[in-house]
Amino acid sequence: MILKNEYYKAKSLTLGVMKSFLSMSYNVIRRLYGAEKITTINYPIESYLYSKNQMGLPRLVLDKKGRSLCTSCDACQKVCPTNALDISGKEGQEPEVFNLDVGKCIFCGWCADVCADKAIEMSDEHIIAAHAEESLIFSFNELKSKGRRPNPEIKNQVNSEGMEG
Ligand code: SF4
Ligand code: SF4
Repeated sequence: MILKNEYYKAKSLTLGVMKSFLSMSYNVIRRLYGAEKITTINYPIESYLYSKNQMGLPRLVLDKKGRSLCTSCDACQKVCPTNALDISGKEGQEPEVFNLDVGKCIFCGWCADVCADKAIEMSDEHIIAAHAEESLIFSFNELKSKGRRPNPEIKNQVNSEGMEG
């Protein structure tokens, strides 16, 4: 009985290996001869084209003088599901601390949705890499340097949104 079990185990293992090998060879040949489109890219020589609808890194929205529209209300920090935001400051004023831990951010966009001052929005920046975990924490000044200033061509729209004209 034991011998029979060993025989079936060995047989199914051999069949499994053969099946995997045949399936792998089939896929390699299909891709080599162009029967199937290759879905991987030669990164970083080639870059991936993200869909326009795919949200990237959250970024600050600035007024014309480069000041953040953030009023330190703390709503985004409270709603962030991964605790990626660390904000403190006097309500109604620019925050003293506004750190975004990109290592924790899941690009969900909740912070942008909840912000009544439209001080934060989702950008199209997706490629973020660092050698050290600490480098993934962006300070207020770093975020401001990446922030979006109003486009002068849409001045009227900007003014109607309460930003400085
Ligand atoms: S970004 Fe918006 S929601 Fe977050 S603290 Fe500033 S004003 Fe409040
Ligand atoms: S995009 Fe989502 S995870 Fe990232 S900081 Fe905003 S609320 Fe947090």
